[in-house]
Amino acid sequence: MLSEAAVLLWCAGAVIVMTIAMAKDRSSIGWLLLALLGGPLALAMVLRLPSTGLYAAIVPEPGAMELCPACCEPVRRDRTACRHCGA
Ligand SMILES: [Zn+2]
Repeated sequence: MLSEAAVLLWCAGAVIVMTIAMAKDRSSIGWLLLALLGGPLALAMVLRLPSTGLYAAIVPEPGAMELCPACCEPVRRDRTACRHCGA
């Protein structure tokens, strides 16, 4: 019984790693396999990945955001145009 729970927990962790990897525009299958093999190690690795794409838009790094001078909405500092007002 205990081993079944452990396997379930291990797989759930792998799915979490895969989800984070997908959010960071990384290979989902690759990270799923890595997580199944490496477990917590893969989780630590995926959390250290530099944020790109969607993940960076949702969870910006500190200092990556500023307020849009035109509409005062929070926008990425490296934006080309404000996603709220287009300025
Ligand atoms: Zn704006």
